[in-house]
Amino acid sequence: MHCEICGGKAVTKAVIEGVPLDVCANCVGHGTEIKQLQIRQAPEISESTINPDFSAMIKQARGKVGIERKMLAEKLAVKESILARIENGMRPDNVTARKLEKALGIKLLGFSADAVVQKQAPNEITLGDVAIIKKKRK
Ligand SMILES: [Zn+2]
Repeated sequence: MHCEICGGKAVTKAVIEGVPLDVCANCVGHGTEIKQLQIRQAPEISESTINPDFSAMIKQARGKVGIERKMLAEKLAVKESILARIENGMRPDNVTARKLEKALGIKLLGFSADAVVQKQAPNEITLGDVAIIKKKRK
């Protein structure tokens, strides 16, 4: 495969002026390397799903620890009204959920029962091809 800009050895693909091209190491700088564009973090399904009983768990754990909602909210740097909503069933974002886990000694995230529902179709891209080309050229 040849670089579509200078004709040299193409080692990767890059989007240059909106067009994906095979490019060499020198020309890749003219555009955005596709490898960088398309690398996506694998969805952390197990990490981002929350136990559906989270509101009850938080309330219960807070009762156990014996900390007032206001105090807990301060500790977590979360608005008390937000914490109240979470305790009433609003799903906390992952950062807040992690804080709650730490503060209350409970496990909220990593619930796997609904992982199947949230599973995303794998994004088939040419990354593997790019990696193989790079290996071969080295
Ligand atoms: Zn080139």
